[in-house]
Amino acid sequence: MNLPTLEEETIMAWTGQAAYKRGQQYAQEGRVLHPRREGNVLLALCQGQAVEPYRVRVRLGGEEGILSARCTCPVGAEGRCKHVAAVLILWRERPHAFRPLPSLAEELARWPKKALIDLVLRMIEREPDLREMVYFPFQSPSSNHPAPQQGAFHAQSKRESGKNTPSQSP
Ligand SMILES: [Zn+2]
Repeated sequence: MNLPTLEEETIMAWTGQAAYKRGQQYAQEGRVLHPRREGNVLLALCQGQAVEPYRVRVRLGGEEGILSARCTCPVGAEGRCKHVAAVLILWRERPHAFRPLPSLAEELARWPKKALIDLVLRMIEREPDLREMVYFPFQSPSSNHPAPQQGAFHAQSKRESGKNTPSQSP
């Protein structure tokens, strides 16, 4: 996949000059955290004024080089903020800093058990139906398979992989 290298002007035209300048400062100060890439999508956190870093997502491509962007900061819905600028500037200057996103299984394998438990509890808080999956687990859970909306009991028979491998990976 050929990913676009961005010109300064392209980034500036996308975010506006003021946001670009602040973004430049942010990039230099190392406020872009965990830069990752998944295909043509850049993902990163950007430490702004708030305690919790904002989440930035940019889709590269097209003639302009930037298809869309989004940031969780108060003005970032259209992705025209300084946090997006900082991420794009980092991409322009150090594309190799954006490591390919690992698969979900690879990523979760690195998490300590306590963090995994917290994650599952938070997911269940958001989707209470998932609770059943803890007490009545599927035989071959797949992280790529979206959770059933309701009636977690019915999904089990749909899988015919024939394998009965335990869910734990080495
Ligand atoms: Zn932002």
